[in-house]
Amino acid sequence: MEECIFCKIINKEIPAHIIYEDENNLAFLDVNPRCKGHTVVIPKEHAKNPFGLSDESLKLLFVATKKTMQRIDEKLKPDGYNVGWNQNSAGGQVVPHMHVHILPRWRDDGGGNMHSIVNHPGDETVEEVAKYFNAQ
Ligand code: 5GP
Ligand code: ZN
Repeated sequence: MEECIFCKIINKEIPAHIIYEDENNLAFLDVNPRCKGHTVVIPKEHAKNPFGLSDESLKLLFVATKKTMQRIDEKLKPDGYNVGWNQNSAGGQVVPHMHVHILPRWRDDGGGNMHSIVNHPGDETVEEVAKYFNAQ
């Protein structure tokens, strides 16, 4: 997509610190890092989120994410990771090109975990929510 900033990085129209690249995916350091080595992994195909990508593209993105993490592991030796993506504006997505955030973590970095993203379970019980899925 012409005006997409991540497509411009893919096309090398704007610079980025690329730490992994293969035929289908690219990983580069986040320009505004939340931790040392904060990286985003993107498919070269423009799509806003996983619903716009084929299963095959998603498999390759997941493998590229693992390979990028292995590279970070080797060079920065973090103690752990949080990995995921913000989907749609309600989920905090700003750049409308699918990107997996890799957040390397250190034991004493003072950060949180997935549970610190939101705490708003709503009025329905877990059993009531399960009924939407006909889940036992
Ligand atoms: P999200 O859309 O999931 O909120 O996050 C977008 C991420 O992309 C942010 O962490 C932001 O710092 C990063 N970002 C936005 N524009 C650029 C850019 O031009 N270069 C790089 N390297 N990162 C960017
Ligand atoms: Zn794009």
